[in-house]
Amino acid sequence: MVADEQAADVLIIGAGLIGATLAAALGSAGLRVTVIDRVAGPAQVAPTFDGRTTAIAHGSQRALEAIGVWPAIAPHAEPILDIRISDGRLDPAGGPAPVSRLHLHFDHRQAGREGEPAAPMGHIVENRHIRVALFRRLETLPSVRVLAPADVATTVRSEDDARVALADGRKIRATLLVSAEGRGGALREQAGIRLLRADYPQTALVVTAEHELPHRGVAQEKFLPAGPFAILPMTDDPDSGAHRSSIVWTEHTTLVPTLLRLPEAEFQHEFVRRFGEHLGAVKAVGPRFSYPLSVQAAEHFTATRLALVGDAAHSIHPIAGQGWNLGLRDAAALAEVVADAYRLGLDIGHASVLADYERWRRVDSLSMIGATDTLNRLFSNDLAPLRVVRDVGLAAVNRLPPLRRFFMRHAMGLVGDLPRLIRGEAL
Ligand SMILES: Cc1cc2nc3c(=O)[nH]c(=O)nc-3n(C[C@H](O)[C@H](O)[C@H](O)COP(=O)(O)OP(=O)(O)OC[C@H]3O[C@@H](n4cnc5c(N)ncnc54)[C@H](O)[C@@H]3O)c2cc1C
Repeated sequence: MVADEQAADVLIIGAGLIGATLAAALGSAGLRVTVIDRVAGPAQVAPTFDGRTTAIAHGSQRALEAIGVWPAIAPHAEPILDIRISDGRLDPAGGPAPVSRLHLHFDHRQAGREGEPAAPMGHIVENRHIRVALFRRLETLPSVRVLAPADVATTVRSEDDARVALADGRKIRATLLVSAEGRGGALREQAGIRLLRADYPQTALVVTAEHELPHRGVAQEKFLPAGPFAILPMTDDPDSGAHRSSIVWTEHTTLVPTLLRLPEAEFQHEFVRRFGEHLGAVKAVGPRFSYPLSVQAAEHFTATRLALVGDAAHSIHPIAGQGWNLGLRDAAALAEVVADAYRLGLDIGHASVLADYERWRRVDSLSMIGATDTLNRLFSNDLAPLRVVRDVGLAAVNRLPPLRRFFMRHAMGLVGDLPRLIRGEAL
């Protein structure tokens, strides 16, 4: 090792929602972890940085509990007790959306196995609270170092190790390099891993709504012609006590710049047209955020001494609120194969360890990409024949409790070959 070089077992590039979770998991198991991000921690938790909330599935919550992050999230987490899905239309006269005929209803009390206590299907949490909780947990782990802001200048991976030079001159040598860089993934590109990608003609507009009546833990998804309009229950505003929901309003990309600039009164009009009046008087508050949508998948999740996790490996449509949950299962699976190899004194970046990770994560990722893409194509249009097919489908699922339970358990992240952390066990 060169004189000014620092050593780590695992070097994670990207301290976003997935990179920071992986660092907390590996650090909890005692591995020496360095995690770097080009954005400083305080900037990442500023209210204007990321206006989104995340639907944390029940299985993901168990993982956050196991790595000691959940206690700091819990006060900001609103349980999802019901999910109501309906096929909606806009009132051509410009009035507020009529109360939709209910097509599909998921009740958390019907999701569990016999004898199991009823658990919420998940929780809605503001991303900034998840980030704060993760950064706090990382500070308590003696074997974890966070370097932010910091950027990668060069990377050299070999059969023996990975060596990274940062733009500020610092050097780090690691046994395993992880890209948690999100959709843009520079390391993925440098490794020559092919990316399969398609842009949706949709952009997600994200705002917070304040409404007169409480939401009672109900998440709603209305399928409008431009795409899903999701109303996600949030905790009441801690200062004003206002009832709040987080809105993911999928819209034609071409319309979004206009909506972002629209004067307040006109924006509120368009907003109420979609939201409706089922929660009494409602208004959109705070900044408007926008996120262009695409689906993408890396052809491989690993290369020599490199693993991809989260959006760097796959990025999906937010229609089912599953992108982060999918990435969390990557982090949990990678942490498990790496921690097991570490305890046995094996090389944690060896090709055989990485092959185990890749094999484990393929099926879950491909099925989630397929499911969300199909749902979006089926629902984001106003074609009469498709409308009939989907309405019949929704009504059929609604009438079949076992099928409803099957979907709920999938959405709760409780199906498949689950990593120990997702089962709520220690790493
Ligand atoms: C509108 C919307 C709503 C969503 N809602 C949900 C939901 O309810 N539930 C759900 O499960 N998922 C949801 N998702 C998906 C979820 O937000 C993403 O899957 C998740 O944020 C991905 O996290 P990540 O850490 O992989 O990537 P990112 O969040 O993109 O983080 C990447 C990090 O890496 C850093 N970085 C990148 N390159 C470098 C570099 N070279 N050097 C240093 N740092 C670098 C970046 O600064 C960033 O901090 C939603 C997505 C959208 C768009």
